[in-house]
Amino acid sequence: MNAVYKLSPSDLTFLWDECKRCFYLKIVRNFNRPPVAFPSIFTRIDGLMKEFFYQLPSEEISPLLPPGNVAYANKWVNSEIISFTHRNTGCFIRGIFDTVLAFSDGSYAVIDFKTTQPKKEHIAFYSRQLHAYAYALEHPKGDSFSLKPISTLGLLCVEPVTMNRSQENNLALQGEVSWLEVPKDESEFLIFLDGVLSVLDSEVPPAKNPDCGFCNYRENARETGY
Ligand code: SF4
Repeated sequence: MNAVYKLSPSDLTFLWDECKRCFYLKIVRNFNRPPVAFPSIFTRIDGLMKEFFYQLPSEEISPLLPPGNVAYANKWVNSEIISFTHRNTGCFIRGIFDTVLAFSDGSYAVIDFKTTQPKKEHIAFYSRQLHAYAYALEHPKGDSFSLKPISTLGLLCVEPVTMNRSQENNLALQGEVSWLEVPKDESEFLIFLDGVLSVLDSEVPPAKNPDCGFCNYRENARETGY
């Protein structure tokens, strides 16, 4: 095999959608775009949600889910190499999942907590990330962490809507909670990964995103010499 690319589940959402060139440069040339400031409050809220739901029954996530409980959080997954007969390159998935539920029928659900308004578009957008975790769990490399079968994928969206004073010096930000189930389709995910490899296998990086401020800044700097 000529090359085996490491894919991070989160890069299959924002980075892939924002700019194939930056995606290519990161994975093939190990040239990373500078990190943008990510408000730490979202990391804090995400951590609090994980702590709150850990070991609670699955009905706390959604009454539509089968009986079970929130069983795992923040674990590394590492997939076997994914290859296609028509390519001489491959890829593998490596990342940390948010949360996994264990159902009493022996199957599992991979879910992600999002501090956001629930939107239909989130289903297709985050589907790749959830499928990547599910694929790595069901097709692990060696003795990497493994769970199967993964029967369910979904997003638990919390949208802050009101603030209440629960006691003196203590305000509670309250939000509406919505469950968005993401249909699982491993074949479609593999077709998507084949498309990702077709970009990564190219001799030259794809075109830049013309709306990106980073690249425009780089070009201006080159032109002006600043
Ligand atoms: S346009 Fe340039 S800086 Fe912006 S995302 Fe693409 S390659 Fe990266």
